[in-house]
Amino acid sequence: MTQPVSAISRQTPQQQARTAILNQLQECLAPGQLLWTEEETKPYECDGLSAFRQLPMAVALPNTLEQVQAVLRVCYAHNVPVVARGAGTGLSGGAMPHAEGVVLSLAKFNQILEINAAARTATVQPGVRNLAISQACAHLGLYYAPDPSSQIACTIGGNVAENSGGVHCLKYGLTVHNVLRVRGFTMQGEPVEFGSLALDAPGLDLLALMHGSEGMLAVITEVTVKLIPKPELAQVILASFDDLEKAAEAVAAVIAAGIIPAGLEMMDNASIRAVEPFVQAGYNTTAAAILLCESDGTPEEVADEIARMSAVLNQCGATELRVSQTEEERLKFWSGRKNAFPAAGKISPDYYCMDGTIPRKEIGKVLRAINDMEKQYGLRCANVFHAGDGNLHPLILFDANIPAEWERAEKFGADILELCVEVGGTVTGEHGVGIEKINQMCVQFAPAEREAFFAVKRAFDDKGLLNPGKAIPTLHRCAEYGKMHVQRGELKHPELPRF
Ligand SMILES: Cc1cc2nc3c(=O)[nH]c(=O)nc-3n(C[C@H](O)[C@H](O)[C@H](O)COP(=O)(O)OP(=O)(O)OC[C@H]3O[C@@H](n4cnc5c(N)ncnc54)[C@H](O)[C@@H]3O)c2cc1C
Repeated sequence: MTQPVSAISRQTPQQQARTAILNQLQECLAPGQLLWTEEETKPYECDGLSAFRQLPMAVALPNTLEQVQAVLRVCYAHNVPVVARGAGTGLSGGAMPHAEGVVLSLAKFNQILEINAAARTATVQPGVRNLAISQACAHLGLYYAPDPSSQIACTIGGNVAENSGGVHCLKYGLTVHNVLRVRGFTMQGEPVEFGSLALDAPGLDLLALMHGSEGMLAVITEVTVKLIPKPELAQVILASFDDLEKAAEAVAAVIAAGIIPAGLEMMDNASIRAVEPFVQAGYNTTAAAILLCESDGTPEEVADEIARMSAVLNQCGATELRVSQTEEERLKFWSGRKNAFPAAGKISPDYYCMDGTIPRKEIGKVLRAINDMEKQYGLRCANVFHAGDGNLHPLILFDANIPAEWERAEKFGADILELCVEVGGTVTGEHGVGIEKINQMCVQFAPAEREAFFAVKRAFDDKGLLNPGKAIPTLHRCAEYGKMHVQRGELKHPELPRF
């Protein structure tokens, strides 16, 4: 039971200031909507990246727009950082609290406001779960295409903030391609709207800017998404390979043949062996790799595409092809891929899920390099990923109870991300930068580019209070990481300490 904040006695000046802020926040909210004791705020100390934890000053649980606005105004007036939070399934620490800040949970905003079958749109509050949108419009033969594996739990507000992807995004686009309009509030508590219900809008594309903004530009309070007709039929090919690189080549070959599958996923032998005892998806546990290649559309389109994909996969050396014959079998084949993360949790006390993107033609080379890194770091790594998008998800297996194993896993992950940049890719595919990849942003972007990011942030959030310390590294941080861009031997910002 929450006590009145003012009951705290014998406080230092700092504590008194904190109490004054908490009292003001409490005035904006109903009883039970502000949490500040350690016991109450503990569940919010991390997101899916649980290696990093921080208790916030308080957690606000508003359920009206007026409350969100009022909380933001109090925080702005007192320079209190605000971290927006959806379901907390993020894997890069984006929703990890700030020690002196407020976690602004949007979990109570869980209403579907309108489904417009004629316009094929759904307008929803930010705390609506991704899967709940498709479930709510299924009776109309419609669905929302972006499908992160966490779709049962993650929220649409979090999906916009991370520009989330999923198996079907290869064909149907990422979150940014499936959202028409976002409404929210700035840090000052001013209402903002990006995009419109029309298909295009004049001016700079601020709607796109909101996607992947990781809670740093505005707090999202409403999202209008596009809905698309559910395909008449979907079938998936489960292709086994005796060689990892042949499977990687097959991925590039399918796309090069002019086919855009509804999903094109890859799992290596370590993932297959982790998953099979866990869900019995019917995978060949001796295969070096499997590909899941989905086709959807009318029965004629699917038959044609399955035949064309099968031909390419055979040419690339597939040792076995199985095509799902029923919807039940299709879901069974996918169940392994969908359960790969929990399965990794069964074979290792801890795992660290990385997320980087590379050009498809580099998949084989990068997987080979990861294999070498396993030996270098003495840690196992299972690979399960959105191969069609070149979006890798190496799962580094470790035991946090063994001294220095987490540090090794972290370094292993950093090396993978830096390799992604080296081969022409990026340090994130869909999980965002958060705190996890902030050092690698120093590798990916030059100081001028990072300064441009900060300038955009300042334009929205002049005091830098929305999710500070995430996604964009400061000059100091990059200097400390030793990855400040040095051109022609000219050391930029010599005044900054190097470690
Ligand atoms: C098992 C598992 C599988 C996953 N698979 C995928 C996958 O296939 N594809 C993928 O893209 N991701 C995946 N993820 C990562 C995660 O689910 C996504 O990033 C998701 O979009 C996060 O949504 P959330 O509601 O949990 O957001 P949170 O984790 O709560 O927050 C994520 C970020 O969004 C910001 N944010 C949240 N809500 C708002 C809001 N209303 N306004 C402004 N900012 C906000 C937060 O500040 C934070 O920076 C997976 C995670 C897990 C645990």
